[in-house]
Amino acid sequence: MTGNVFNIQRFSIHDGPGIRTTVFMKGCPLRCSWCSNPESQRFEPQLIVRDVKCVRCGACAAVCPEGAITLDGEQGRRIDWERCTQCLQCVPACIYESLGVIGRLMTVEEVLDEVVRDRVFYKNSGGGMTVSGGEAMSQYEFVTELLGRARALGLHTALDTTGFAPLERYEALLPVLDLLMMDVKTLDPALHREFTGVDNERILANAAALAPRVRTWFRIPLIAGFNDSAREIRELAALASRLGVDKVSLLPYHEGGRSKAGQIGGTYRMDGASAPDDEHTQRLIEIIAQAGVAASIGH
Ligand code: SF4
Ligand code: SF4
Repeated sequence: MTGNVFNIQRFSIHDGPGIRTTVFMKGCPLRCSWCSNPESQRFEPQLIVRDVKCVRCGACAAVCPEGAITLDGEQGRRIDWERCTQCLQCVPACIYESLGVIGRLMTVEEVLDEVVRDRVFYKNSGGGMTVSGGEAMSQYEFVTELLGRARALGLHTALDTTGFAPLERYEALLPVLDLLMMDVKTLDPALHREFTGVDNERILANAAALAPRVRTWFRIPLIAGFNDSAREIRELAALASRLGVDKVSLLPYHEGGRSKAGQIGGTYRMDGASAPDDEHTQRLIEIIAQAGVAASIGH
């Protein structure tokens, strides 16, 4: 069995307790406007360009069957993303590594080989392995096998998810899952649909069904003027309290996705967005604490 993995990040301290290795699975059914990893969204391997490495030799343009690559005197190598079919033939033609592929098919064994290298750090820090995405549950058979094998090796296991997958996929994971980290972006259904492309009804139903059965953290990407009102956070904290959620993490918005969107021919849709200031964020932390739920910023 293979899974499409777009990154394996070692020594992660923001994706669960302790020092962890985070396995990022490629492909996601949501299209969050603020996505910091837009290269994770497509399910298939895809082209990524690194302009800074391009020496304008033209080797890529020579092999592109679609004529999608041109060399412009002033702007250098340009990709017409409308014409690009993601055939990836240009990648090996570039010996300067200005062109790359996002997404690699890996077996469970190959992933675990990388994960177990840092076992000693997990043990000393209370860490382990986190599977994230994209939406990891879109490849749930692979993820179920991966988490089960990791658990059998004695590793702490965590899943970072949008919460949008069918409930039975999460339920199948419960015997091998130590921590469920679920994004709860906003309780407002219309806003959720507008900024992610999907309803939040299933996500909230999954949270209600799962939180009482496995240690759960809510993660809230915090964007000024979108979901950072005291009222919204108070309602989210009350929900977390009712469900016995262990912690609510506020993840202040950052522009990490902007440059990556440009590298894959995507469009960044959050112009003008910002994180709330520190004082307001601290106030939101206090609101969560008042509901009797642990709260943190950034992890
Ligand atoms: S082959 Fe690589 S270095 Fe040459 S023009 Fe294409 S992207 Fe640039
Ligand atoms: S991936 Fe796109 S740009 Fe590269 S060779 Fe194929 S069609 Fe051309």
